[in-house]
Amino acid sequence: MGLPTVDAPCFLCGSREADPLWTTPDRAFAVPGLYTVARCRRCRFLYQKPRVDDAHLAACYPDRYPRHQEPSPRIPFKGSPGRIRAARWALASALGYSHFRDPSVGLLTRLRAWALRRRISWDCPPWRGGGRYLDVGCGSGGALGAAKALGWQVTGVEVDDAAAAKAKRFTDEIHVGDALTAPFAPGRFDVVTAFHVLEHVPDPVAMIRRMLEWLAPGGLLIVEVPNAGGLGAAIFGKAWSGLELPRHLSHFSPESLERAVEQGGGRMVWCWHGAKPRYYLWSLAAWLRDHGRTRLASDTERRLVYGLLKIFLEVTLPLVRLARRGEVIRVGIASR
Ligand SMILES: [Zn+2]
Repeated sequence: MGLPTVDAPCFLCGSREADPLWTTPDRAFAVPGLYTVARCRRCRFLYQKPRVDDAHLAACYPDRYPRHQEPSPRIPFKGSPGRIRAARWALASALGYSHFRDPSVGLLTRLRAWALRRRISWDCPPWRGGGRYLDVGCGSGGALGAAKALGWQVTGVEVDDAAAAKAKRFTDEIHVGDALTAPFAPGRFDVVTAFHVLEHVPDPVAMIRRMLEWLAPGGLLIVEVPNAGGLGAAIFGKAWSGLELPRHLSHFSPESLERAVEQGGGRMVWCWHGAKPRYYLWSLAAWLRDHGRTRLASDTERRLVYGLLKIFLEVTLPLVRLARRGEVIRVGIASR
């Protein structure tokens, strides 16, 4: 027996007409049941239909769910003093952190900073206004810890009690509960982030609208979701690792995410594509299992084969990003 579901309409256009596309069990955490992704007939949006009833959503998340664990914050100041100087220069020159600016740095440090720029742009929010940062769905606080180390005043929202308790090692300002009910004043934050949150919530448009209300003038909302319009979904279909049923209720592409943003009163200002080899390797192992190749699936998970595939993918991934068919999309959103 699976979790109780409701037959809700399309999150984006409200139509009830949709065609089932993929049906899978919970591959990651074995929550009982089979769940289906359908494509809206009117607007082509992909969403879970029927979807897990709101009252039972918490049952989709076991305690070992990774966001509830304790990841160490990805602070860019690691390694040799030279690398740290380069990281500070990258933050100052590419992301607006003027408090890290040190005009005495030499050419070599600047070159090194240039090489670090891409990585740092994914790990650190661009500096805005007075440095007031909110992470929605902060889990145990990895992003809060990193932002705090960069000089932000940090605040979090987290629905899971145990994860929120861990996030409190970085700040007392954690709202435990649904983001829609969080009591922040309008215009209170310079940057708001929501990494892998929108695909989990029953009303992503309302969530975007709420997060935009919290932005100060000139502020930036940054959202990251799996990309159902990417190469992985096209190749692997129902074995695609981004499906994550029953936890993912919406499956955005760059186009449908932009539509959700506009309905929520925002404007997409940039869209980055990202991918990590492990996303493809998870999809590949699931695809092989679905095709009865269990032995081969286990082989791909073995260290040597995994390592070789990983090297191959590391080399080809820049092409995927260039083709704008990444496994995740991260978008910057401003108020309209
Ligand atoms: Zn629709």
